[in-house]
Amino acid sequence: MNRTLDSSRTSWLESASSRSTDFPIQNLPFGVFRRAGASGPGTIGVAIGDRILDVAGCQRDALLEDLPGRVQRACLEPALNALMSLPRGEVTALRERLSDVLAEGTAQPRERERASRLLVAQGEAEMRLPCAIGDYTDFYASIDHATNVGRLFRPDNPLLPNYKWVPIGYHGRASSIVVSGSEIRRPVGQVRPEGADQPRVAASARLDYELEVGCLVGQGNELGRPIPIDEAHDRLFGLCLVNDWSARDIQQWEYQPLGPFLAKSFATTISPWVITLDALEPFRVPAAARPDGDPQPLPYLDSASNRARGGIDLRLTVGVRTRRMRELGSPVSWMTESEFRRMYWTVAQMVAHHASNGCNLRPGDLIASGTVSGPSERERGCLLELTSGGTAPLTLDDGETRTFLEDGDEVVIRGSCERQGFVRIGFGECRGILTPAEG
Ligand code: MN
Repeated sequence: MNRTLDSSRTSWLESASSRSTDFPIQNLPFGVFRRAGASGPGTIGVAIGDRILDVAGCQRDALLEDLPGRVQRACLEPALNALMSLPRGEVTALRERLSDVLAEGTAQPRERERASRLLVAQGEAEMRLPCAIGDYTDFYASIDHATNVGRLFRPDNPLLPNYKWVPIGYHGRASSIVVSGSEIRRPVGQVRPEGADQPRVAASARLDYELEVGCLVGQGNELGRPIPIDEAHDRLFGLCLVNDWSARDIQQWEYQPLGPFLAKSFATTISPWVITLDALEPFRVPAAARPDGDPQPLPYLDSASNRARGGIDLRLTVGVRTRRMRELGSPVSWMTESEFRRMYWTVAQMVAHHASNGCNLRPGDLIASGTVSGPSERERGCLLELTSGGTAPLTLDDGETRTFLEDGDEVVIRGSCERQGFVRIGFGECRGILTPAEG
């Protein structure tokens, strides 16, 4: 494992050693920020403790001069796409260099002095989308989610027969992906209430979130050239958190026969920091074991390495902070804790499947996992599951109840990875506040 992951490595920046930080020196996620009040394009940075290290500034101050020219040029771009398009090894080299600049003992005094002038407080920065996202695909990789949702629609036959053979997904909408913190407007659409013989147009009354993990593509593949499963991780740049906002009443009416459309395309929120595959290396675990009697994956979706290390031990949580909680200063009411390692299909299987017909994945494309749910009630990753289709209201920490989201509700997703002998890393937050429908 590379030296950036060594648990004895510490930063000269004190906040990076705080036990509660998501961003110790072992993490160094990439993002794009703008100094508060500044206009113009964003700047690439890495999160460290409660600061952001300005990576473009590092290039201009000659802190990256040993790296290849194309790596240095990519650091000056206003989005991560150019960096994402480089071979994974070159991004690894950049990450090692940034780690050395920030680490106690490896940074030369003059480097440390220069880098310390390139730190921006996260509280004084506005995060942007990390990259231009050309395409967005959303999978359905949690068998517990697929079963819970399927049961609401088809009590006798919750799981369709293809589920255990083919990773199910749909093409989402890239233009409406927004960064954490953006307001989400409640959509208006065609709905057909229970018992009505005709649809009507109305603001969605069954608005939901979906707790998901997103993969941002790195180098990807050429059109016509599938990605072998054992190369899948090397074609990715990193992971983020995703909230796939979903209007269940619009979805219920429109989804057959081609799947979700306007019920999902009005907005998707992603977290601003991209956690690299390098930083996630210590947290790779065996793919979830398939129960006896389930088919083994077809050869293009199977490999010894995927079985041994295809899972990622990432714990996720989602909560709601209502308008009243914000007014009273109450904390988020956490509702769900689920584990990404339980997914029926691994990240590598989703990537290999996506490219198996020759479809090209391009730098910055977003591949989301689908709602991450687990077998117990506490592990349900959306309100549709938590409230059994809106029939069993949920009581929040302050006594308020919800079936679906109300205007003013803020949904917050967090994720973190822990393992004995390694430093805990976090994903930061993916949050969005719901505002009333237009008009
Ligand atoms: Mn989804």
